[in-house]
Formats: sequence, structure tokens, C-alpha cells
Amino acid sequence: MKITDIQVKRLRIPLKKPFKTALRTVEAVEDILITIHTDTGDIGYGEAPPTAVITGDTREGIEGAILGHIKPRLLGLPVVELETIMERLHTALVGNTSAKAAVDMALYDLFARYHQAPLFRLLGGARQTLATDLTISVNDSAEMAEDARQAVLLGYSTLKIKVGKDPQQDLKRIKALRQTLGDGVTLRLDANQGWTPREAVKLIRQMEEADLGIELVEQPVKAGDLEGLKYVTQQVETLILADESVFSPLDALRIMQERAADLINIKLMKTGGIHQALKICALAEIYGMECMMGCMLESRLSVAAAAHVAAGRNIITRCDLDGPGLCADDPWQGGPVFDHAAITMSKEAGLGIVPGPTFDQYISQPFSSFSATPQKKM
Ligand SMILES: [Mg+2]
Repeated sequence: MKITDIQVKRLRIPLKKPFKTALRTVEAVEDILITIHTDTGDIGYGEAPPTAVITGDTREGIEGAILGHIKPRLLGLPVVELETIMERLHTALVGNTSAKAAVDMALYDLFARYHQAPLFRLLGGARQTLATDLTISVNDSAEMAEDARQAVLLGYSTLKIKVGKDPQQDLKRIKALRQTLGDGVTLRLDANQGWTPREAVKLIRQMEEADLGIELVEQPVKAGDLEGLKYVTQQVETLILADESVFSPLDALRIMQERAADLINIKLMKTGGIHQALKICALAEIYGMECMMGCMLESRLSVAAAAHVAAGRNIITRCDLDGPGLCADDPWQGGPVFDHAAITMSKEAGLGIVPGPTFDQYISQPFSSFSATPQKKM
């Protein structure tokens, strides 16, 4: 099974409702889709969202990295020599983790197809079912409470609430939410770097005193402020989860050595794919630091790749894989089943996913030049 071609397309799926965080507002998943073709006719699928405000990766950047730098280094290589391919992929250019992630997952898809096994089995096969939370966007209290109530009715027992715009408003919102939901629902907060270390400590302590039952707070301070992150982690009892502070295994190692956070959020788009994510898992096992598997705004394809990693490794104890739950439609068929909060791994080989009947209506013309289409404001 040798690589004969790598093609890039654009995927656009509307969201059920606009996704709002402290950093951006988005109305549709607008991702880069890649296919890796082989001489056996097998096709591997990969996806990358251009999340410029988090990864720095734009649509044109992802396309340029794949077609101009990665593709020429991989053509002709046998898929079964995964180590050689991964070395070539990760040394093709620096940065560009989203482009690398899309190619990496399509290669793992093919590698597992070659071995006729679902990918999560090859990655360790820790479990067959996962539970994900659902993200509630930043809105006024009444709308957030209503969104949360609807989510609970759909079976979500853990909700991730976007905060970080204004600390005192955040406190009011969370109090109102807790009152509406009662004690049976687990709440996670994601500040997306929105607070200063002092604000974070003050606010989290207020939440602890008010007994709001917050399971964890994600990325309270700026990504680069490791001292600030460590300060918050030391000053509060609530678990602190590092997200934007950790891209690479080296970032994760620094956080673990400093104990600058209690938990790490692994996302394939930050690590550059599964190969690097597995290194963070190995470090986390050594340091005894549990991980969350997260995603960006992605369709079920790349979220399925993340689910395969989460189902493979015991050290991943939490999932924030709600991309498919936020999309208004699913152009894929096969693979892990996302039934609201419950994710059930499937028996098909590879990622298990192929284009479904409605696929074509979400795909724009194959990308054929480097001329930039204006990027939607995020
Ligand atoms: Mg986050």
C-alpha cells in the first residue's frame, strides 16, 4: 500500500447555532479535508480546521503546507512504514500543526486499514465507549441556562461553559446556571485565556465558597504565562486544565515538571496529530497527570480520530469531543457513533469513516491554486 496522491478539498457544515467563546464567534465548520490515495485503491481521510486564533493556522496556510511541503515528501512511501513517514511529515516544515494533524490521521487511517483493525485497538484498546461533554457558548444568562437545560434533556451529564469575558458577569452566569440545573450536572469552565492570574484566583475562590461544584477550569490565563498558570493552580482547590498552553509534547513536559496545571487538554490540531499526541500520553502516564481529549470546531471525521486516541489510552480520562454535536448535519457514514454524550467505537478498520450520501453538498471544488479566498472573520 504505497501513497500515490494527496488531495485537498474544503468542507463546510453549518452549526446548529453560532459558537461563541472569549476569542471568537463562528457560524459553520469550515475545514480542510484531505484524502491520501494509494496504489491498492484504499483512501485515508483527514481533516483540519483553520483555527487561526488558537493554532495560527489559516485555510490557505494549511493547503499550502500540505500541497507544497508535505505531499512531495510522502509520495511513493509504503504506508506500513509509519515511523519513516512520520519522521518525514514532522520534519517537512516547522509549526503548521493543523496541516500535519490532517495528514497524520489519514495515514493512521490507512495504517489501521492495512492491518484490518479499528485504529483504537492498535493504539491500546483501553475502552469501547466514551462520554463527551457539550460546550455552551458565551451568551446572556437566560440563553445560556436554556441551552444548558436543552443539553441535559438530550442526555449530557457534563457541560463545558465558556467564560472569560468578564469575571463578575461570569460568576453571575455560573450561579444562575447552577441554580437552573441543580446538583446532578457536572460543570466545567473554559476561560480561553480570558482572565489575569489574580482575577482567576479571586473568581475561582468565590465559586468554591459559593459551592458551585466546578469540576475544573480550563486555561484561565494567557497561553504563554506558565508562571501565572502555576500560581492559579497552587492557589485554588479546583482542578486547572491547560489547553492553549500545551501544543507539543515538550510544552506538556514543562507543565508536568513544574506542576503548572493539574490536567492537560490534548487536541490533535495542537500536537500535529496522533503520533505526537501519543507522546503526551506517555509523558502523562509517567507523571501521573490525567488528560482530556479535546477538539476544535470539527466534523465527525477528525473528532473520530481523536475518539480513537481517547479510546486507546487509559490516561485520557475526560472527553470534550462535541464537534459533531454542534454541527447541523453529518456528511460521513460509519465509524464511531456519536449519540449526544455517548460515543461508541465501531468495528470497521481504520478510522472507520467514509463519505455518506449527503457528502458532496458540503464539499467545495478541489483546491487547485494558491490564490487566497478571503477568510471568513472568526
Ligand atoms: Mg479550551
